[in-house]
Amino acid sequence: MVSRVIPVDPFDLVIFGGTGDLAQRKILPALFRRYCAGQWHDGVRILAAARSEHDSDAFRAIVARSLAEYAPEHAGQDDLRSGFLQSLDYVQLDAGADPGWDVLARKLTEDRIRAFYFSVGPSLFGPLAERIRQHGLATPQTRIVVEKPFGHDLDSARALNATLAAYFDENQIYRIDHYLGKETVQNLMAVRFGNMLFEPLWNSQYVDHIQITVAETVGVDGREEYYERAGAMRDMVQNHLMQLLCLIAMEPPAKFDSDAVRDEKLKVIRALDPVQPHHIVRGQYTGGPDGPGYREVVGNPRSTTESYVALRAHVSNWRWAGTPFYLRTGKRLVARSSVINVIFKDAPHSIFGAEAGRHANTLSIRLQPNEGITLKVTIKEPGQGGMRLIDVPLDMSFAEALGPENHQAPDAYDRLVMDVIRGNQTLFMRGDEVEAAWAWTDPIIAGWQARGDVPKPYDSGSTGPGDAELLMKRDGRQWQGIKP
Ligand code: NAD
Repeated sequence: MVSRVIPVDPFDLVIFGGTGDLAQRKILPALFRRYCAGQWHDGVRILAAARSEHDSDAFRAIVARSLAEYAPEHAGQDDLRSGFLQSLDYVQLDAGADPGWDVLARKLTEDRIRAFYFSVGPSLFGPLAERIRQHGLATPQTRIVVEKPFGHDLDSARALNATLAAYFDENQIYRIDHYLGKETVQNLMAVRFGNMLFEPLWNSQYVDHIQITVAETVGVDGREEYYERAGAMRDMVQNHLMQLLCLIAMEPPAKFDSDAVRDEKLKVIRALDPVQPHHIVRGQYTGGPDGPGYREVVGNPRSTTESYVALRAHVSNWRWAGTPFYLRTGKRLVARSSVINVIFKDAPHSIFGAEAGRHANTLSIRLQPNEGITLKVTIKEPGQGGMRLIDVPLDMSFAEALGPENHQAPDAYDRLVMDVIRGNQTLFMRGDEVEAAWAWTDPIIAGWQARGDVPKPYDSGSTGPGDAELLMKRDGRQWQGIKP
């Protein structure tokens, strides 16, 4: 089976911050891969705009090095690489000053899709939006793309939404949460809403609980200043884990279109109960043989910023009343693993007797690494000696079914950047969703501040603080292992 590539219409894409880490590591390699796949053709213009002084050839040389490193699968395809590099251009400008904008304006093409990617710090989102308008660069076909973090709390997110709304309509604003671009996250929707098998069981009558884990092995090195102000709650829970929770918990939208999907996600966020203080555990990693602890890295011996959060959330509606959602995320943990586990209830009665044990089905949706979906089913242990039951994974082997050329999951940015050009906002967050997520997050953080809460220390390379295990144990449950 060969995947279908439908070329997009010609476009101009301006990447503010085009020399930065995100542009070089993710956005430009994604564009290159889509060019190699034939998704867009020569004639497209990709303009990087940043403060540093480069001419276009010097910028192309920088990008050539990034492609070698971050799109190695196309190494040796020199014609494609030079075709891609020819589409690139560079403009020196400061987001907060006027010089350079007239040069940018002259390089843009009339009457075609125009996208501005804000791959810069959030303090520049407002000034950029304003200057795009001031210099007459915004056309009806214009869209802007903004990266996380989108605000620091509800007030700042509201202010940012209001600033962007002063210059652009909501249907021109693409707020990226790259988790939504992951192939398995989209597969989660396909599995839920494309099959009859799961949806009838997808409720509190049959689902015991849900676990969402996003575990990282990296620390905060290189992002100390930002992270010390953010912590795991703002950096991960308010956006990535919240989006995953929404996709698991939402009602089937009437259509797979951007507003229908986002309306349903918004209802989930609004149905979340406030989290009780005894249902949340914060942690902070300590140093060890593999490196310094959090406080050393950020240079603040009294830091109370959390590098780990585990919590129990409840979606108060008919479908989910009584089914807890356990969320956890942390840095410097034992393995890099993002997985959603849907743990079904035990069979109501075992005809095999107590010695056969209790066996609950689990549907695991792995986002990284090794994207894929596994359903654990109970079978008879092979061989003689009576009816002993074991759980085995029923692997939905996409690789086997789809053929080797299609099983390599594309990077989230490949999908998201092309969706911007296509004008499809389904996998992007709407302004009201972001605000609702902050409205749920803010009281949790305010509670920590009011109580002077100090995160529990945990060893680097562990599964997190012991209290997170207790959070589950108290409910007669346990976390699934964090496996690479
Ligand atoms: P970076 O510091 O590596 O790059 C910043 C870029 O912005 C550079 O090209 C710089 O020249 C440009 N820039 C800075 N000030 C400017 C100004 N006044 N005018 C014009 N250009 C200016 O940052 P990054 O890691 O690429 O991150 C960019 C944005 O994306 C940030 O908002 C960040 O939070 C977000 N983000 C980054 C990642 C990542 O993996 N790097 C992941 C998620 C979100």
